Amino acid sequence: MKSCSDIIVIGGGIIGLSIATELAHVGMTVTLIEKGVFGGEASVAAAGMLAPLKEFTKPGPLLDMGVRSLQLYKNWVLELKEATGIDCQLSTAGILTVAMTDMEEKWLQERYQWQKSEGYDIRLLSGKEVQKQEPHLSKMVRQAIYSPHEADINNRLLLEALVIQAKNRNVRLFQNTAVIRLKHAGRKMTGVVTDKGELEANHVIVAAGAWTADILRQVGVDVPVYPVRGQIAAVDSNHLPLSHVVFGKNGYLVPKQDRRIIVGATEDLAGFDRSSTVYGVSNVLTGAMSIVPAISEAPFLQAWAGLRPATADEHPILGPVPNWSGLTLACGHYRNGILLAPITAKLIAEYVSSDETEHMNPFLPNRFSLVSYEEK
Ligand SMILES: Cc1cc2nc3c(=O)[nH]c(=O)nc-3n(C[C@H](O)[C@H](O)[C@H](O)COP(=O)(O)OP(=O)(O)OC[C@H]3O[C@@H](n4cnc5c(N)ncnc54)[C@H](O)[C@@H]3O)c2cc1C
Repeated sequence: MKSCSDIIVIGGGIIGLSIATELAHVGMTVTLIEKGVFGGEASVAAAGMLAPLKEFTKPGPLLDMGVRSLQLYKNWVLELKEATGIDCQLSTAGILTVAMTDMEEKWLQERYQWQKSEGYDIRLLSGKEVQKQEPHLSKMVRQAIYSPHEADINNRLLLEALVIQAKNRNVRLFQNTAVIRLKHAGRKMTGVVTDKGELEANHVIVAAGAWTADILRQVGVDVPVYPVRGQIAAVDSNHLPLSHVVFGKNGYLVPKQDRRIIVGATEDLAGFDRSSTVYGVSNVLTGAMSIVPAISEAPFLQAWAGLRPATADEHPILGPVPNWSGLTLACGHYRNGILLAPITAKLIAEYVSSDETEHMNPFLPNRFSLVSYEEK
């Protein structure tokens, strides 16, 4: 197995795949190593919403990054379709964020005010107006923000397309291969040791989602990334036309072009356990029924769970590990890794090819103290 490339990327989720394909595109030789199957963890579990305005609760660098990433999506999926033949089903019908109680109405109006004052194209709809757009919504819905430019995608198809794109661009792909440890000479990276053998590279990018901390801990670097389980389900939309993503305080519904409606999601701390529990799934379904009561008659299809890579400040961690040469992090995308994948790939490729970190300043690892307890 011993062989050499410019870059090794650890982790074949949406973040690792996007980075690997982008680096190959700018002329690097890249090896991507995944311990399971490509995309098989958080990335396949996601609902596929591309919704920075729904997700981020205040103006700032994370919202700016989300908006920029959303803008990249249209061309990204077009390029992927041309290169792979896969249509990732980007839907641009927009997102409705609904309020059903006094408190939610207050929260919605505050959100509307700051987003409007930042210049975003959003509309505040009355209960009647929103019922016109989505007749199956609960009569309890009093108001909604309609955000016409937010979107959703079929993340399963996106992952398939990225794997093909990576192959087209000659990325060396290893599935079912776990990185056991990082290889280094002093504080300079030299490669990785996997359960199938060793690979050499002077630059290693760790994009291992919720598992990133385990990999870095072995070299005395303590990355504040931890798993937050999301339980989620799918129902058949056959009898229930729903044309927008609907998001409320009790959950969300994401209609897909393949006739599924994805309903989600819990946020629970269960370590690395990604079972679906009776409590979790029933909460998700109850939440969805409170927003769209007719969903109670929809055939149930499936429930599953994934581990979101959360960070201490809920911002991703992107860029070089301080005091190390050739060791870069791209992790901690928490609830928004699908949304943030294209911009993450661009920023990391920019850094790797030019050493430039200016555009990812707010997300650099050096905002945390990364020295592990063993080393202190
Ligand atoms: C229920 C749910 C709903 C979500 N909905 C959305 C949404 O609507 N929109 C959105 O933008 N985001 C959403 N997210 C968040 C999104 O899924 C994540 O932010 C994103 O998938 C993180 O991608 P990743 O590549 O960093 O992690 P992962 O997809 O977890 O990939 C990391 C990979 O690293 C591999 N790995 C770990 N250790 C090793 C090792 N030692 N050697 C080799 N490989 C290793 C793992 O096997 C894994 O495949 C959701 C998440 C969940 C759970």
